[in-house]
Amino acid sequence: MPHIIDGKAISAQIKEELKEKVTRLKEEGVRICLAVIQVGNDPASSVYVGNKKKACAYIGIESLAYELPEETTQEELLALIGELNGKAEVNGILVQLPLPAHIDEDAVIRAIDPKKDVDGFHPQSVGALCIGQPGFVSCTPAGIIQLLKRSGIEIAGKECVVIGRSNIVGKPMALLLLRENGTVTVTHSKTRNLKEVTRRADILIAAVGRPKMITRDYVKEGAVVIDVGIHRNENNKLCGDVDYEDVAPVCSAITPVPGGVGPMTIAMLMNNCVEAGSKR
Ligand code: NDP
Repeated sequence: MPHIIDGKAISAQIKEELKEKVTRLKEEGVRICLAVIQVGNDPASSVYVGNKKKACAYIGIESLAYELPEETTQEELLALIGELNGKAEVNGILVQLPLPAHIDEDAVIRAIDPKKDVDGFHPQSVGALCIGQPGFVSCTPAGIIQLLKRSGIEIAGKECVVIGRSNIVGKPMALLLLRENGTVTVTHSKTRNLKEVTRRADILIAAVGRPKMITRDYVKEGAVVIDVGIHRNENNKLCGDVDYEDVAPVCSAITPVPGGVGPMTIAMLMNNCVEAGSKR
């Protein structure tokens, strides 16, 4: 049977480490504060925002919550971000996505000071990652690197195949694997002979957004399989992009859904906040 990579345990370990670091920083007089902005009351966003606030409280990070009505204008949102950019006591600014359709998400992301861009979505953060300079890294792919490293899985020299090229998962994932000296292939909806490509992977990352698409015929015997997808199946149970029951017997390590990649995203957001605060 494969090694089941326990994202819950690894994220708990990271949160403990951060809690200790925040306690030490407090003793030195450094307080860390994250501003979380939500526009409208999309139920899924409210759950994510709630979880982020809970994680902050646990670690000892202050959180400022801005719950703005659905009809907030882009100008009003940009003005709030401008104000928070100017507040020395705010280290991180997070705008929960998606935003209502009348607001240009790119303009909002660009408005956040890159020094406070704890989501790692600002073009400057992405550019820094691309050319190997310091900057914040998108939380989900950063969490996956931690899952691999803390499970003792070597990346250097390995064939790494990423399925998906989104700006928040696929592309930064590929850049991070490259930074760790993996040999990286990025695939997408126009890739020909996808299975042939994915079967080359020693490390296969599925960020495709299609429930249970990745069956064992996409996977090389003994590969490490990381499942980024989150979906609800016909019985309202969570499942990933990988058909876990089918794939688990042929791989050497795999992340479950839930309890794999999911918990790492918040842990890495907290890590980015602590980094933002300690650099102040
Ligand atoms: P997107 O929908 O933005 O991107 C999906 C990518 O998959 C695209 O690049 C698309 O290609 C590619 N793709 C779609 N269909 C195929 C196909 N048949 N064959 C090959 N490639 C295909 O999704 P995200 O990257 O935002 O998210 C991916 C999954 O991860 C989702 O299930 C999402 O819910 C989950 N997620 C989980 C997080 C977590 O914390 N665990 C955080 C973020 C996302 P193309 O570019 O050509 O259209």
